[in-house]
Amino acid sequence: MRRIGIGILGATGMVGQTLVRMLESHPWFEVTELAASGDSAGKTYEEVMENRWNVSQAIPEYARNMKLREARPGLGCEIVLSALDSSVALEIEESFAKAGYAVSSNAKNHRMERDVPLLIPEINADHLSMIDEQRRRRGWKGFIVTDPNCSTIHMCLALKPLLDDFGLEKVMVTTLQALSGAGYPGVPSMDIVDNVVPFIGDEEEKLENEPLKIFGRLSGGSVASAKIRISASCNRVAVRYGHTECISVKLAKKAQKEEVIASFRKFMPRISSLLPSAPKAPVAYLSERNRPQPKLDSEREGGMVSVVGRLRECGIMDYKFVVLGNNLVRGAAGAAILNAELLKERGYVGR
Ligand code: NAP
Repeated sequence: MRRIGIGILGATGMVGQTLVRMLESHPWFEVTELAASGDSAGKTYEEVMENRWNVSQAIPEYARNMKLREARPGLGCEIVLSALDSSVALEIEESFAKAGYAVSSNAKNHRMERDVPLLIPEINADHLSMIDEQRRRRGWKGFIVTDPNCSTIHMCLALKPLLDDFGLEKVMVTTLQALSGAGYPGVPSMDIVDNVVPFIGDEEEKLENEPLKIFGRLSGGSVASAKIRISASCNRVAVRYGHTECISVKLAKKAQKEEVIASFRKFMPRISSLLPSAPKAPVAYLSERNRPQPKLDSEREGGMVSVVGRLRECGIMDYKFVVLGNNLVRGAAGAAILNAELLKERGYVGR
């Protein structure tokens, strides 16, 4: 099979380098372009990444001598995976969509626009058809699809089986988010060592609003928001990888504790078997009473699953539990790759 050419925009950042690693031997895709800012353009990837590579494996052989390009149309690829800083993503991503590229973005800029799909393939693959409306309204040859905020993705994956089996009325979430979620070089060490910072710009709004679109129903080319009330509190903690989320839920229908655990464990969406990077079961429930933990569990299934544990009754809502998710893999790079795989599986690219 001819592999589809992929360009990575923002290839030098935390998410970009995770994309470079994850796409090393993809069955459907081949990285043909690496792009970043004008400061990096013209240099080899190895040269720029010498002091910035943060992944435990070495830089993949294929990428070492690739010359970084400036992130603007003219790249030799059909799909661009965008890991651009949000201060520049809006315009650059639009310029690629106008020029006919399929854009799969990690950035926040287009997520809540009414004709842009905000996708988690296991939850709302049907929202992909919003692309047709997007192209019609904007007159673009290409299009943009987005993946959610890193904490939103893991919370939604954990909530989806509960929503399907019991219905959801209210959700309260408190996050403990890793440093790598703030990009590179991220939070200054003097601000975070021996500390917790109880504020992450825009994060609480994303956790409260994005799930309503993701769980919403598609009608007439746009999405009617789901009717769930969500309250979020977000904290930055001195952990390198893996966001922890303490979640309480009020279900629409009463459920026994065993039924809730069974609901997490049997969540195996059909789409997972069609996408090469998707884990068979996107939620892993652990029964040990002190898990999940970032240090022990954020690399489970290569970082592609949401790890859930500590389910117990809640004195105010119905149940509370802990979710841990790898922010760089399933929370970003892996999510953009899954969306690109979904585009291929549904015939939007690679025809
Ligand atoms: P990062 O480490 O700060 O990397 C930002 C990237 O954007 C770098 O490759 C940088 O290239 C590039 N860039 C900056 N200015 C540019 C310009 N004017 N033109 C072209 N490229 C430019 O950030 P990150 O953590 O990888 O995040 C990337 C995106 O993913 C952000 O939108 C972020 O919000 C989102 N996201 C991040 C995470 C996470 O866990 N980190 C999770 C979900 C979503 P240079 O090196 O050349 O400056």
